[in-house]
Parts: sequence; C-alpha cells; structure tokens
Amino acid sequence: MNSEVEVKRSVCPYDCPDACGLLVETAAGKVIKVMGDPDHPYTKGTLCPKMTHYEKTVHSPERLIQPLLRIGPKGTGDFKEISWEEAVRHIKARWQKIIAEYGAESILPYSYAGTMGVVQRNIGEAFFHRLGASRLARTICSSAKGYGWSTVMGSSLAPHPQEVAASDLIILWGTNVLATNIHFLYYVREAKRKGAIVWLIETYQSPAAQVADEVIIVRPGSDGALALGLMNALVSNKLVDEEFVAKFVQGFEELKAEVLPEYSPETVSEITGLAAARIEEMAKVYGKAKAPFIVMGSGMSRYGNGAMTVRAITCLPAVVGAWAKVGGGLLSSVGTASAFDMKTITREDFIKEPTRIVNMNQLGNALQDMNNPPIMSMYVYHSNPAVVAPDQNAVLKGLMREDLFTIVHERFMTDTARYADLVLPATSSLEHSDIYRSYGHYCVQQAYPVIPAVGESKSNWDVFKLLADVMGFEEDFFSMAADEIIQQLLDDPKSWLASIDKEKLQRGLAVELPLPPKYKTTYKTPSGKIEIFNPREVDTLPKYNKSHGDDAPFWFMNVPGLYSLNSSFNERPDLLDKRKAMYLMMNPSDADQKGLLEKQEVVAFNERGEVTFILQITPAVPSGVVVAEGIFGIRNTLGQSSVNALTSQRLTDRAAASTFYDTKVDVRPK
Ligand code: SF4
Repeated sequence: MNSEVEVKRSVCPYDCPDACGLLVETAAGKVIKVMGDPDHPYTKGTLCPKMTHYEKTVHSPERLIQPLLRIGPKGTGDFKEISWEEAVRHIKARWQKIIAEYGAESILPYSYAGTMGVVQRNIGEAFFHRLGASRLARTICSSAKGYGWSTVMGSSLAPHPQEVAASDLIILWGTNVLATNIHFLYYVREAKRKGAIVWLIETYQSPAAQVADEVIIVRPGSDGALALGLMNALVSNKLVDEEFVAKFVQGFEELKAEVLPEYSPETVSEITGLAAARIEEMAKVYGKAKAPFIVMGSGMSRYGNGAMTVRAITCLPAVVGAWAKVGGGLLSSVGTASAFDMKTITREDFIKEPTRIVNMNQLGNALQDMNNPPIMSMYVYHSNPAVVAPDQNAVLKGLMREDLFTIVHERFMTDTARYADLVLPATSSLEHSDIYRSYGHYCVQQAYPVIPAVGESKSNWDVFKLLADVMGFEEDFFSMAADEIIQQLLDDPKSWLASIDKEKLQRGLAVELPLPPKYKTTYKTPSGKIEIFNPREVDTLPKYNKSHGDDAPFWFMNVPGLYSLNSSFNERPDLLDKRKAMYLMMNPSDADQKGLLEKQEVVAFNERGEVTFILQITPAVPSGVVVAEGIFGIRNTLGQSSVNALTSQRLTDRAAASTFYDTKVDVRPK
C-alpha cells in the first residue's frame, strides 16, 4: 500500500445542493485530510463545517466493518459478527420463505439520499424490480416543490445560480442559505457589494437574516397567499410587464379576473400576519426592481398546501417579466436529472407485473397494515427511517414487529440499524465509484475510490450484485461493475452529457453541462409558455389552500442546522459538541404566558408523541411558533424520541409528499 501522501479528487456525497468538489489527501490506504477543490467551477475550494473533517467520518471508530446478526431483542443493538457468506445465505433463506408464503411484494426496499451519487443511490431499484418487490414512492423531500414548479414551468431550466450576482433584489424565500446552500451565498454577497437589496421571507428570524436587509416574517403555511397578494398589488399598481406576459405567459388574464380579486392586501394581511401596507410596498419594490431573483427553499412545500404554495410563488417572476432580465428569475431547484438516462440504472424493464407502491412518508402505517400482503421484510439502504420518517412512534412500532425481517445496509449503527435482524457494513463515498450531479448548480463530476473499502464494507451496488447472484438472477446487468454502468451513461449519444468534455470528467474534474442560448425564455411546457393557467390540473389556476396543522397552540418548525444534515453526521462527536443540545426556541411572551424559563427542560407534545428539549427563549421566533434545529439520533436526545415523534404521515395536496412543517404542538415543563 502506498505510504506516500497523494491528493485525489472526489465529491461530497451528501443531500445538499452544492455537491462540493473535494481534494482528498491519502497515505497508506487512509484519508488524512479533506479540502475543497479550488478547480470546481461553482464551489471553488470551500467546504461547509460538516465536511472539513470527513476523514473523521470515514475512519470513525464507530464504522461498521463486518456483517452483524441480531442475537438480542429488537432495538437493543445486540448483534454478533458473521461473514458475508453467512449473511447472504441468511437473506436468501428468509426471502425465499417469505416469497413462498406472501409473495415478493411483501418485501419493501427503503432508501433515499444518504448518498447522492447517481449510480449508488438509485441502482437498488433494478434489483428490487427484478425481485418483484413492492416499490417505494420516494417523496420525502422535494416532490411537492417539484410539482408546484413544473405545474407552471414544465421542465424548463432553472437560472444559472451564479446569475444571482447580477440581481438588484434577491428574495430568500424560506431558505436558510447559511445552513443549506453556502456557496450560493457568495454570489448573493457579490450582488450586495454591487448594491442589491436582500429580503428574507421566513416564519422566524433564521440565521439567513444576517445577510438580509429586510426580514419579512409570515405565518407558517401562508406563503402562497402572500404570493397571490403580491400579484394583486402588482396589478393594482400597474407593475405587470404586459409585453412579457403577452408573449410568454398563458393564463394571466384569467388569474387577474378570477383569482386575484380574492387576495387583496387586506385579505392577505389576515392570512399572513403582515400589514396590508407592507404587502403593497413589497409589490412596488418587486415590480420596480430591474432584475428580481427569488430563491425558494423547501420548507413552504412541506405543508398540506405545499404544491399549491410553490405554484403560486412560481408565477411571480412571470408577472414582472423577471425571466427576460439578466439576474432575474426564480431558483427552485436546478434540474439536471435529464442529463442521465435513469432507465439504464433503475431498469423498469425488469418489472414483470407492476407491484404496489408504498409511500415512504407513511412507513409507520405500512408496517402495521397486515393485509394485501403485509410487509414481511424491509431492506433499508442509505436511509434512517427510525429518525427521519414522520410519525416516529408509528415507525418504531412497525420496526419492533418480531415477524418483520429487517436488513439495514449502513456505515454506522443508526437508530434504524438497531432494529435490524441483519446489518451489512457500507462503504463511504471515498471507497466506491460514482458520478454526481447537483440540484444547486449545473456541474457533473465523476469519482473513483480514493482508498480501499474500510473493513469488509461493500458499496450498495456490490451488495445488490451478491444478492442477485444468490437469488439466481441471470441478467448480464448484475455482473457489470459500477464503472461500466457509468460509462454506459456517458456513452449515450442522445444525452445532455454528450456535449461535455469527457476527458476532463474522467480525470475527476467537475464539468458544467452547457446551457442553451435563450434558455430563460424558452419554456418546456406543453404550450411553450409559462403556464399560470394549467388546463391539466383540477385547479386550473393557482389559489391559496389552508394548511392542516393540529389541534395545538404552537406551529412546530424543525429546520436545518449548520452541523448536521438530516440524520447524517450524528456519528461525529466533534459536530455533536458544536450542536450542544436539542433546543426548542420560543418567543419570550409565549414562555412568559406558559411560565417557562430559559434552559429549562420542556416537553413538546401532540397527539402523536412527545419530545424533550432545552428551552431557548428568543425574540427571533414569533409568538405561536416554536423552532428546533436539526435531527438528533435517539441516543443523543433527552428522552426516548427525536423530533419526528411529533410530525405526521399526512401528505401534501399534490405529489404525495411529506408535511413535516404542518405540525402543531403544545409545550409543558418536563
Ligand atoms: S454538505 Fe453541502 S456544502 Fe457541505 S461540503 Fe457537502 S456539498 Fe458542500
């Protein structure tokens, strides 16, 4: 093994829009240091605090290095080490018995975005399609947001994120860029240096307020009403870009006649809590800006009205013609999935008969439903549903089922792994090949292993190949290496990838997908226009729907933190130290009214569960709202539950997505 220090390129694999380029120093098969890659066109050599010591994750003493078989009661984490051979033999025997008795549909895969690599993230689907397992609706994160955007914009391309530097009015709408999109912030700061004004529209004064000139606090779930109120005021103040609308927009006249009269600033004031004069003033500033740029977070899409909210906000730049201006438009998510022929990886052609689809947000119910057929086995990979899925108590009850055969393929003994019958050790991103795209910029990047697999860990694909072999699958596909599958994607002559510099890509450098000329005024919708009126929707025009909430006094917001990402990084003591404890932020007047004190242990509760926090009293949170940052593993909580004990399995209005923010709680002293 080479003991000299080498520097190799890689990519941050986590569920974050930035997909940072990494330079990894290795020696003797180990990672010594991880740095940002200055040659990355977008992230330019900087990393967030989570990844600056990725080597502590890769070589953590807590890494799983061998397959484990449960020997104690479920949930206790009592296992014995076994070989891979024994592990796959065990899986084969249990699955064959389950399939004979209940059918292959009684096996459920569960995965999401523990790694964002295009191949390792998605390739399990090919295996489960071939097996005939139930399919998973992977709608936990951004489906409602994507649906709301595409209802108006179809598959039109998002603006290049660096274009924000040319904007004169930047609206950070429900996004804490400091925690979730730090590189975008550079370009926001560049715009500010040139005189741009920044607004933050949020439900509380998030850390992003540091970069904002104005912070506009709205009631949770009311963002869609604000968008409609702004459009009403744009009309009444004659700030509509008539020329742009006539040329590029479908249905603005219908919106103006049938919908907007219901959303006067006065009416919207009652819904949002903003003064009517403030809404009027915001519309004037937005309508007069030379190149207004909206950046939309995801939180507002995670209410019962999430898809419609995003749809309403997405209409705004069309009304003022922002798309035709350099530095103007709206960034919801950068859609680069079309660069890859995903069918090469997910192999829908392996599905013999369409099987049922289980929504990942309703795992708790699905595991307890003993009909049609019951779920008798679950295979979890790069996801941690015991803490990230909504309605934690329902999920844990399901995981406790003695007759449920649970396999977890993971790098660490996560909360879900503790409930497994069999735990399989997984590689980190530095130990396997993959190709990455981003949902925050237009770069793609190929990565190769920079160190050998730690212990006996295996990549997702290598485990599926082993399982395919023991299950007797004969398709050639299951003998391909990950690099061969990546090559197939790159060789597709019809793909967006066809026009990029492959030689550079294969040297591990990030390469930008080329944007066509005039892409910001070329709309990939059935009409070829921006579709404010969408004839394919039940509601052909946007409107405001109330969110759901619960019968409790406080909206509960679980927002992203700086030192964690969903439940990733909970294995890192250095980052846990920085997070200190599970805090619940509350407005001073609410704390006073409840008789609660700073740093007191309190319990947030509703009909689904209760969670213990340390109270943090702060005016940053408005009355009627409480805020908690990040997701802690159960062992790091003050009780037996983490935040998702409070959230529900309800789905959004469209796209069957999660409604994490549509949650209310009461709070009492511990
Ligand atoms: S988590 Fe995001 S910001 Fe941090 S290094 Fe990874 S991609 Fe970059």
